[in-house]
Amino acid sequence: MIAVPGQVEWILSKLNQGGYEAYLVGGCVRDILLGKLPQDWDVATGARPEQVKACFEGYSVLETGIRHGTVTLLLDHVPYEITTFRKEGAYADHRRPKEVAFIGELEEDLKRRDFTVNAMAYHPKTGLRDCFGGEKDLKDRLIRAVGNPETRFSEDALRILRALRFASTLGFSIEPRTKGALLSMRGQLSFVSPERKREELTKLLTGPCAGRVLQEAPEVFRELFPALGEKSVRLAGAALEQLPPRLELRLAALCFGGCLTGEGESPAFWEARLKEQKWSNEVIRRVVGLLSCAGEPLPSDWIGAKGLAARYGIAPLEDSLRLKAAFGSPQGEAGAWVRRLKEERPCLSFKELEVTGRDLLHAGALPGKELGQSLEWLLQEVLEERLPNRKEALLQAFRRRMGRKD
Ligand code: ATP
Ligand code: MG
Repeated sequence: MIAVPGQVEWILSKLNQGGYEAYLVGGCVRDILLGKLPQDWDVATGARPEQVKACFEGYSVLETGIRHGTVTLLLDHVPYEITTFRKEGAYADHRRPKEVAFIGELEEDLKRRDFTVNAMAYHPKTGLRDCFGGEKDLKDRLIRAVGNPETRFSEDALRILRALRFASTLGFSIEPRTKGALLSMRGQLSFVSPERKREELTKLLTGPCAGRVLQEAPEVFRELFPALGEKSVRLAGAALEQLPPRLELRLAALCFGGCLTGEGESPAFWEARLKEQKWSNEVIRRVVGLLSCAGEPLPSDWIGAKGLAARYGIAPLEDSLRLKAAFGSPQGEAGAWVRRLKEERPCLSFKELEVTGRDLLHAGALPGKELGQSLEWLLQEVLEERLPNRKEALLQAFRRRMGRKD
């Protein structure tokens, strides 16, 4: 039923030969049953980390998370995580527990996992171990908590976002009791670190069913973006479905939903919120650029379109038009101008000007402020097509201007 790569079979049999139980677990079992190639292969075993290391003596074994029972075996540069069966200790503050206890039983290990579809184990010889009905939920396309959903979400509130993440990436529904629990426990998301939330949100927003998830559980997104009202989240959800699955575009859509309904205020407001949420500087720069560009009036002519492209870049301008279109704003001729910008690639920056600062110094410019102003002036003349972007013409214009000043 399941095609397991030779190396993975070898890892399992090596552990078995050492006298230990070993299974594939978690996401890889789910993915194979769905007919998808898993991103990574996780093994759970009764062997303790030292015992795992002994089974793979002579191989490269990294102690990646030894306190949690995880070592990483490298075979041909491919990492395989091998984790000792474990049970988690008491949960403090609705976050993952600091302590774990190693145990000898697979079933206990499966019980601590989040959702039934993620709580199955598989061994090529003994087949599937499915203690919580994961295979049926997979067929019915359902995300269901293992055990009591209220308890599981209060143990680790990140699971609330994980449920929505899997609903988005797999296109599954959330089983009603699980959904009710995640909605009622959503306030506890404030206990989870921004970094863990950011990781899940990234996968959620870029998933194929992100739009539907936003529309179905807007309350949860309000916990993450308190400036947004439910209406904005729903609006953003509908828009998101029409946007390519790129993080900066989809994150910008969520913020833009707020800008439109007046709940989200300015790009600077969102910049501060995204910083608090610990998004990378690069992501923040892109989202804020998109929001600022989308906040500009549509260009009324070709020169105006060039001006916007010079300020924000051609690709961000194109993305901002996509963003606006997804929210139903008409684009006028802007789409055609973006196509022309991409074809013609006109000069939009100092780098593309046919004269350099050095050329202007040779022609008599004074270094410093005046040089900068001259370059700025030439770029503006080229952008507005009063001058062609040709070296001789630019130098001549520069000399004329100097002459006028003298
Ligand atoms: P992906 O294919 O996106 O990596 P995954 O199911 O492998 O999906 P991971 O975040 O890599 O997801 O987690 C691996 C497994 O560990 C999950 O399948 C689940 O069994 C368990 N797990 C991860 N995070 C939690 C959590 N917060 N609470 C309970 N179990 C978890
Ligand atoms: Mg994984």
